[in-house]
Amino acid sequence: MDRVECVVIGAGVVGLAIARQLALAGREVIVLEAAEGIGTVTSSRNSEVIHAGIYYKAGSLMARFCVAGKWALYRYCQEHGVPHRNCGKLIVAASPAETDRLQSIRAHAAANGVDDLELLDREAARALEPALACDAALLSPSTGIVDSHAFMLALRGDAEDAGAAFAFHTPLTAARVKGERIEIDAGGQTPMTLECALLINSAGLSAPEVARRIAGMPQELIPRAYLAKGNYFSCSAKAPFSRLIYPVPEPGGLGVHLTLDMAGQARFGPDVEWVDHIDYAVDPARAERFYPAIRKYWPTLPDGALMPSYSGMRPKIVPPQIATQDFVIQGPREHGIGGLVNLFGIESPGLTSSLAIAAHVGELAKN
Ligand SMILES: Cc1cc2nc3c(=O)[nH]c(=O)nc-3n(C[C@H](O)[C@H](O)[C@H](O)COP(=O)(O)OP(=O)(O)OC[C@H]3O[C@@H](n4cnc5c(N)ncnc54)[C@H](O)[C@@H]3O)c2cc1C
Repeated sequence: MDRVECVVIGAGVVGLAIARQLALAGREVIVLEAAEGIGTVTSSRNSEVIHAGIYYKAGSLMARFCVAGKWALYRYCQEHGVPHRNCGKLIVAASPAETDRLQSIRAHAAANGVDDLELLDREAARALEPALACDAALLSPSTGIVDSHAFMLALRGDAEDAGAAFAFHTPLTAARVKGERIEIDAGGQTPMTLECALLINSAGLSAPEVARRIAGMPQELIPRAYLAKGNYFSCSAKAPFSRLIYPVPEPGGLGVHLTLDMAGQARFGPDVEWVDHIDYAVDPARAERFYPAIRKYWPTLPDGALMPSYSGMRPKIVPPQIATQDFVIQGPREHGIGGLVNLFGIESPGLTSSLAIAAHVGELAKN
């Protein structure tokens, strides 16, 4: 049986950041990935927004890792030539009642260490974005966008340069805790059994399923997985905005917002659709809900401009009636197994937080 020091399950943005972190710390690392390449699941089905860290519950892992991860990500992109843009975003109040909520959003953000939000009246907001309809807006200067694929390629490159190895088409099928070590069965074209001292379960949507396959893992600590699909529409008309435009948030999501890709192309979404299986097709009929939502802040959106684009699945670990969840990162202190770290519910802002999550897992892995 082959022995290796650290095994990372999953080569999404979080698994890649962790593999890089461990390899740079001098650990021997192999990444097992079920798919044919890096970042083919949720990491390539998101908005590519570098979130400021405004909304998350103060003191939560999401709040801490988003703010720390945002600055780490900007620094990383600058140092590694990863395309990104610190374009800023406007949170738009459509009515005086929503304007009142902007004040509380600003206070909440400040408690998370995001103290640069600026409240703009209608004229000031329209001076920045002349096509915008609003009662008032909050400007978030530290929000941005990133080319997530370029970011993941850079993470993989760093990890490989530091000695990490990648095995694609190689899903974890079973594992067993054996004293101080963990034995892993991997399937795929060349099935193998590996023994490791450290196993990182960073399997995204499948993380609860992977944890269930680890004999010795206390099953009652494994959260149930739920799926909240987010649908996107692209726009055939040129959107006249240079910043991201968000409505005041709605329960379960951030509302139908406008984001831009690195080419300046606008996309709208994601909405929130709770589903019981994975199907990434976007139902064109959902556009009917997008038009009125978008026209609150962009009244001249032309009829027929929205086209179904892509979707992503939020790896939820709470049911629909619970509005918010936090990242769950379980180490030996939680489950009692030395050398096992599970990452559950790594939904948004997981991309923004990835480098901070990796730093945290790196610390856990030292003990
Ligand atoms: C609609 C939507 C919009 C979002 N927008 C943003 C945003 O704008 N900004 C932001 O910061 N975050 C955003 N996020 C969150 C972000 O995309 C995720 O947090 C992040 O991509 C999660 O990365 P991951 O590596 O944990 O998971 P994934 O990217 O899903 O990677 C998990 C990997 O594990 C592999 N795997 C699964 N099972 C096994 C197995 N048994 N063996 C081996 N490999 C396995 C999978 O093939 C996959 O490659 C968004 C998420 C969604 C759904």
